[in-house]
Amino acid sequence: MKKVRTILYLLICVASLSWGQTQVIAHRGFWKTEGSAQNSLAALKKAHEIGVYGSEFDVWLTADGIPIVNHDASIFGFDIETSTYDQLMTGTLANGEKIPTVDAYLALGKQLEGMQLVLEIKSHKRVVNEDRLVRLCVELVQKYELEDRVDYIAFSMNVCKELKKLAPEATVVYLNGDVSPQDLKEIGLTGLDYNHKVLTDNPTWVAKAKGIGLTTNVWTVNEEKPMQGFIRQGIDFITTDEPELLLKVLKK
Ligand code: MG
Repeated sequence: MKKVRTILYLLICVASLSWGQTQVIAHRGFWKTEGSAQNSLAALKKAHEIGVYGSEFDVWLTADGIPIVNHDASIFGFDIETSTYDQLMTGTLANGEKIPTVDAYLALGKQLEGMQLVLEIKSHKRVVNEDRLVRLCVELVQKYELEDRVDYIAFSMNVCKELKKLAPEATVVYLNGDVSPQDLKEIGLTGLDYNHKVLTDNPTWVAKAKGIGLTTNVWTVNEEKPMQGFIRQGIDFITTDEPELLLKVLKK
């Protein structure tokens, strides 16, 4: 009987090791704090300071071909895809910074060792811009030798497929919630990163994805109760605007 109990205990240990603990991704960096702003260099630095697993940021291409970090398609009254870098530099973020370039973001990220850089390539109006941006991001990641520390995410399946073409070894995760785990596996992507409503409506998807070796992430979960629900499901990552709260919940 004692032997059976020991074997059972060992099996549980192995299972929990292979499932691992849920990790924290700071959504647009850690920005709900003094001196920070969404997608700013400060937000990346502050995410590192609180010890999250990864920090997420959003990337667009300007009309003159500069990859920059911002969430929305437009900022300061300029549509990014049809505006020049100089036009976008006329404005200032909430914390006084200028919009960071992806080059500057990765240069800082390189110094912030031990933290993953979760690079979201936004869906552009023109597919040709998406393809150009994918190529430029892959080149910048190579320039800083960050291949192992950058995880790509995208709503656009075109972006995901282009990434896999140019960087077959890269971690590429799909955001849009309309593809089943099995189909993502067949396409050759690394995992899913879906809206919490999608995963609530499809309650078997986290377990199914994990069962076929896909990574699982959920966005954007900002309250304790749903955080606990996803942690219980054994989700790999939770993306949140409240990284300090999630770190606390995970310590409990
Ligand atoms: Mg994003």
